[in-house]
Amino acid sequence: MSEKYDLLVIGSGPGGYVAAIRAAQLGLKTACIEKWQSQDGKGVNGGTCLNVGCIPSKALLDSSWKYHEAKDALAIHGIDSGEVKIDVTKMIGRKDKIVKQFTGGISALFNANKVTSIQGTGKLLANKKVEVTDFAGKTTVYEADNIILASGSVPVSIPPAPVDNKVIVDSTGALEFTETPKRLGVIGAGVIGLELGSVWSRLGSEVIVLEALDSFLAMMDQQIAKESQKILKKQGLDIRLSCRVTGSEVKGEEVVVTYQDKDGKEQQQTFDKLIVCVGRRPYTEGLLNEDADVKLDERGFIYVNDLCMTSAPGVWAIGDVVRGPMLAHKASEEGVVVAERIAGQKPMMNYNVIPNVIYTHPEIAAVGRTEEQVKADGEPYNVGVFPFVASGRATAANDTAGMVKIIAHADTDRVLGAHIVGPSAADLVQQVAISMEFGASAEDIGMTVFGHPTLSECVKEAALAVNGHAIHIANRKKRK
Ligand code: FAD
Ligand code: AMP
Repeated sequence: MSEKYDLLVIGSGPGGYVAAIRAAQLGLKTACIEKWQSQDGKGVNGGTCLNVGCIPSKALLDSSWKYHEAKDALAIHGIDSGEVKIDVTKMIGRKDKIVKQFTGGISALFNANKVTSIQGTGKLLANKKVEVTDFAGKTTVYEADNIILASGSVPVSIPPAPVDNKVIVDSTGALEFTETPKRLGVIGAGVIGLELGSVWSRLGSEVIVLEALDSFLAMMDQQIAKESQKILKKQGLDIRLSCRVTGSEVKGEEVVVTYQDKDGKEQQQTFDKLIVCVGRRPYTEGLLNEDADVKLDERGFIYVNDLCMTSAPGVWAIGDVVRGPMLAHKASEEGVVVAERIAGQKPMMNYNVIPNVIYTHPEIAAVGRTEEQVKADGEPYNVGVFPFVASGRATAANDTAGMVKIIAHADTDRVLGAHIVGPSAADLVQQVAISMEFGASAEDIGMTVFGHPTLSECVKEAALAVNGHAIHIANRKKRK
């Protein structure tokens, strides 16, 4: 038996590393166990988010957007950028450098906060013990008063399109292409499919997105989803709804994909690369010894209560491996709340105000309930919408597609949700998220003085429009 800790965290993604740092700040003797290895065999912290998720995808989204702007969007400003070329290897190299910088940053933060970093695979045993198998195969058993499981998630694979990491790839493989595929297929029009499809479309791929569902972004506010679909279509993304992939055959350097179209007819399409983005599943392989006493739910997530406690006393679980949205900031906020609970504090996580963002251009962002959800809940509500085309700042930037939509309770005026497709939607929606945390009404946002000219003014105007008081558009509802 090795050293005893106050807290052992398994997994150093945004859930695990944040929990470990917060616990150490609060004086707990903490260690974080991570099994991720770089190609040269070194241990790496940061999980999916930093290695193959949020950060590298945003690096490629930013590079590809700059390429698109230089190539197609500067002439209107009077700028002749000449012949514009993309060096894909250099772009991927920049992304790798950013990943290295940020994963290295976690190790530095662990040192600064005195979190012990343990490299290897952790397995939870009975009685709050964890067996770690290091990269050389040696096992050590650690003990702790509390344990947090933060083992995250992995891509879902589907039998009709098995990933071969050559022609058919998952989201990780799609961050590593060495050249722009001419014909790119994407299975799944979810967040990841749209982001990765956008990256390669901007660089010149002909992108076809095959989506089994008949509605686009079914979980989002449908007014915003429809607007987003129109904008993305205009950019050249060929999004085919009601198209379920039923098979694929790799033939040399290409893949022939079979799918059933909206009329039930079998169709075939040939691609040079195919990205499978059909969702992610909780990852618990090898994590739980038989006697660990941690129960899973029927979908394979670690079962937890509202406070992230598992069925085993002293064992907690957070992030993608438990219920709720699979988002980095949801994982890290749970990490903070659980660390503080372990240290004796009593914080609560507000699951009603978790923003989510799709980093296409323009961005699609939401917080709170959609109009469809509020309607289904039977609550009376008002809606305010403000289009970016009426914004001086958006027009100056030649970035006017989209709108801000705010939903408020008809009796109390309390903000229930905000849904945005437009420039900087990710940052704009956060303003409404803060307002919602403070229980703001639409009138509160409308009465706040906003700087001019800013994109944020669109949030103010949408809030004013809720009660028919918008200044820079004709109000649908006239109210006093
Ligand atoms: P993870 O980040 O998955 O980390 C879990 C860690 O646990 C891993 O490092 C794993 O190696 C380790 N581990 C597992 N089992 C063991 C074990 N037995 N022993 C030791 N270590 C173990 N979310 C956003 O909010 N915004 C975005 O823009 C965004 N973009 C994304 C883009 C892509 C392409 C992908 C794939 C995901 C994206 N996500 C985004 C989702 C986000 O990455 C996840 O929600 C987040 O990483 C979950 O954090 P986590 O800590 O729960 O798990
Ligand atoms: P998300 O869960 O947001 O990552 O989105 C994944 C998407 O993939 C969902 O919208 C699913 O409907 C879609 N999907 C899953 N399986 C298939 C399939 N065989 N063919 C086409 N789309 C699929």
